Amino acid sequence: MDGKRHAASFQQLEKLGEGTYATVFKGRNRQTGELVALKEIHLDSEEGTPSTAIREISLMKELKHENIVALHDVIHTENKLMLVFEYMDGDLKKYMDTQGDRGALKPPVIKSFMYQLLKGIDFCHKNRVLHRDLKPQNLLINSKGQLKLGDFGLARAFGIPVNTFSNEVVTLWYRAPDVLLGSRTYNTSIDIWSAGCIMAEMFSGRPLFPGTTNEDQIIRIFRIMGTPSERTWPGLSQFPEYKDSWQTYATQPLSSILPQIDPVGIDLLQRLLQLRPELRLSAAEALAHPWFNDLVMAQTGPKQHPQHLQAQPMMHPHGGYQQTVPSQGNYGGY
Ligand code: AMP
Repeated sequence: MDGKRHAASFQQLEKLGEGTYATVFKGRNRQTGELVALKEIHLDSEEGTPSTAIREISLMKELKHENIVALHDVIHTENKLMLVFEYMDGDLKKYMDTQGDRGALKPPVIKSFMYQLLKGIDFCHKNRVLHRDLKPQNLLINSKGQLKLGDFGLARAFGIPVNTFSNEVVTLWYRAPDVLLGSRTYNTSIDIWSAGCIMAEMFSGRPLFPGTTNEDQIIRIFRIMGTPSERTWPGLSQFPEYKDSWQTYATQPLSSILPQIDPVGIDLLQRLLQLRPELRLSAAEALAHPWFNDLVMAQTGPKQHPQHLQAQPMMHPHGGYQQTVPSQGNYGGY
């Protein structure tokens, strides 16, 4: 028998967190000793076997990229689904809370994380997979300074829930305006909006649009990005959540909201945070933005290994990946 595919093959260690769909435990493969993250998804007994969910998730096993948390296995027992993921040291939210300066990260760290985030998104989009729920909590980080996307495809398999598994309300803070307006034809551009919100938050240490309800979320976005109109967004009034009573807010320059971001970074952010989805950059376009030029320059050097490409710009002058996330403490202590 294949020892990998049974729940008993893993020793369950401490609880790591509660996610949208599941409880996450640290685990150890009894045969190999390898650390894993065990995500236990409790199935609603009335719904029976969620065969579409299992099919969707099994497809995720094929989605292998250095910026996607690897899904090693899917184990289905009578009343739960256990997803076995590669183990990571923590998530971006905890990292900002513990290593940031009041939540804010240093610009070279942000650039490296943004590059890796966009690389992961680009790979998924090229494989026609959307994330739909990107947020700092599901960007996982390890002590090498690598950032990997977690939970890809789960929203598709289970739908975007209103409450998390632990009954907290699902955060709306990273949700694209077209989705908030009730669009059902959204596409890859929804993940780009989230990436823009995450970039702003890494610089300031605070969520850019911390809305409490769908309506509040929309208004908070308009207060900064300006209230759109049929003139600036043809078709706007056709959205289910369109209101002709919205207050008209002028567009605020992002440079005044986020003075800590350099002008080239502001230019990128502006292109990610476009209200109209069709105007947002694609992940591939964002990766080619001049803000990443100092990262991309390092790629043209003699070493072309992907691991080096990401870490090199962050390397300490004396070398070594320990310095990948400079002077923000050792992140290995989770
Ligand atoms: P999630 O369901 O992905 O939001 O997971 C809830 C929490 O569990 C996250 O915020 C992480 O702190 C932790 N977690 C999730 N996946 C992993 C992983 N692969 N390695 C380590 N911790 C994880």
